[in-house]
Amino acid sequence: HLPNRTLLADRMKIALAQARRTGTLLAVCYLDMDHFKPINETYGHEVGNAVLGEVSERLKHILRDGDTAARMGGDEFVLLLSGLAEPTECSHILERILDTVAQPFTIGNQEHRLSASIGATVFPQDNADADRLLRHADQALYAAKEAGRARFCIFDAEHDRKSMLRRDKLFQLEDALAAGEFLLYYQPKVDMAEGRVIGVEALIRWQHPQRGLLSPAEFLPILENTPLEISLGEWVIARALQQMALWRSQGLDLAVSVNISAQHLAQKDFLLKLRAALALHPHTPPHRLEIEVLEGILLSDIVYASALIDECQRLGIDFALDDFGTGYSSLTYLKRLSAGTLKIDQTFICDMLVDAGDLAIVEGIIGLAQAFHRKVIAEGVETIEHGVSLLSLGCHLAQGYGIARPMAAEALPDWVKSWRPDPRWNVSSSMHWTKDGISSPASAWAS
Ligand code: C2E
Ligand code: CA
Ligand code: CA
Repeated sequence: HLPNRTLLADRMKIALAQARRTGTLLAVCYLDMDHFKPINETYGHEVGNAVLGEVSERLKHILRDGDTAARMGGDEFVLLLSGLAEPTECSHILERILDTVAQPFTIGNQEHRLSASIGATVFPQDNADADRLLRHADQALYAAKEAGRARFCIFDAEHDRKSMLRRDKLFQLEDALAAGEFLLYYQPKVDMAEGRVIGVEALIRWQHPQRGLLSPAEFLPILENTPLEISLGEWVIARALQQMALWRSQGLDLAVSVNISAQHLAQKDFLLKLRAALALHPHTPPHRLEIEVLEGILLSDIVYASALIDECQRLGIDFALDDFGTGYSSLTYLKRLSAGTLKIDQTFICDMLVDAGDLAIVEGIIGLAQAFHRKVIAEGVETIEHGVSLLSLGCHLAQGYGIARPMAAEALPDWVKSWRPDPRWNVSSSMHWTKDGISSPASAWAS
């Protein structure tokens, strides 16, 4: 004796109009009996129907005037709870409904115990039309069943909106990659003591047709752990190798480092594809390519990571541990990874001139690098003074706005030609330890 599907559509229309008019909330709920099939199968359909009849009675009893309970077929019901002042009110009613349904059913002289699961969505937080409200309630029901049944689950409209937005953005990024809208900027790395440009770091940018040049912070987080992150990473490697070949043909021999994400690095075919990418550029020596990985990401599978680093090094490609100092690296961990370079995180460099704690960390990392015979480079070197201080601590490799901002590939040859180290960097340098010993100034330009 409950309304059916067609009647429900009318009731929904009225309830939605009322919610809009009165500014109250409307909960649209799916209720589904848990493990109902065995009742039918074990005791027959008559018993099953009797139980459902009793469920209907109990629902009618518990709902208030103006609410609706409709039978959707099978052991599934839709409930419309209208005139709610706040979402918690909906939760209270749903709890009461679950309680009622959980009371034993006496059919004939047999007692049956059952439970129900409910999925609900609340209008207008979920500002959707009737069909979509039902779909969202159904989604929430599914979640309630997944979570172990005998409970209710309320659709998270905000979360849904966000994940839709995310999906849209992901599609846009996919299109952008296909349309060739990504490009690499390059930031020079220098040896301050030798006054030499040692290489560049490739940093991705998105040339957005409307919004202009976008930095990675605006789009990389959306890609995280999606297949597109790997496609983009492969594009970065390919593009960097292309650029190296082009610079080489112009007489400029630069080492290029690329940033590789955790997920990309964990791909079982990473090495295979890297080899294939290198094979396309037989004139580019692999040792001019370097891979930067966040310090922390290698931690999760140290055996795999150290094997991968070793394999890459056999190809000639070395690793730098990026943002060093921000992860949870232990000395054992550093001992086991043969990555050739530690890259001191820019947050420590930034404040090393004013914060004794940061200075101590910088000193510590430099000492660590020396003890383990690794190269060490400072990133985020924003002023000449930072450079002076780093030199006096024994770190002569640097990268940062104080030297150059990341720039387009075409701008780099002129920059390399015209760059001169600051005179203040000269004096302190030669007295300090360097991994490769002190060598005479040389140029990135082939003579
Ligand atoms: P990162 O690898 O630590 O790169 C250094 C970031 O610091 C770059 O930001 C660079 O422009 C910025 N920077 C350089 N010198 C200075 C300085 O003196 N002061 C300050 N305040 N910042 C400086 P960018 O280009 O916005 O990149 C941000 C992050 O995005 C990178 O951090 C890296 O983690 C990621 N990223 C960039 N390109 C790629 C890529 O091709 N693949 C992947 N997986 N990640 C990338
Ligand atoms: Ca980096
Ligand atoms: Ca970094």
